[in-house]
Amino acid sequence: MDMITDISTANPAAAAVGGLTSYAKATKAAVQLVQPQTLTNSYDIHCSMCRSLVLKRGVAKKQPSDSAVQLPLPAATQDPSTSTYPLVPGYLWVVNDMMAFENVGFTKAVPGGDDTRYLSCADCDIGPIGYHPARVPKAFLIAADRVRYNVV
Ligand SMILES: [Zn+2]
Repeated sequence: MDMITDISTANPAAAAVGGLTSYAKATKAAVQLVQPQTLTNSYDIHCSMCRSLVLKRGVAKKQPSDSAVQLPLPAATQDPSTSTYPLVPGYLWVVNDMMAFENVGFTKAVPGGDDTRYLSCADCDIGPIGYHPARVPKAFLIAADRVRYNVV
């Protein structure tokens, strides 16, 4: 119990991601997260909680969000009545090979769904940070606003 109290007051998560930039912060500072020529990610992509490396720079491509797809909020903030929200106005990073990830975890198929799986951080389990649609076996998508960037 003490440990949980400490976490919420000292907020080690915020300290742990020092040096990494959130999507919102990067956008506000007009940081180019997308390479204009290749539309790939300009910076390494990290877990926003434990700062584990998820994708190296240049391996994922920008793709517009599918407004029909909703991702639950991370478990810690989940409220059953409002546990999903559309992935707008952000965009997605897509890779076509699971091996492109440095680190990623999969959930079991979403109950009642079509075998779509959520992606999470394999190290700290925070998620979903993206999804793997059952209909598109070669697409692994990461929500641009659920990860942090090693802006150098
Ligand atoms: Zn993590």
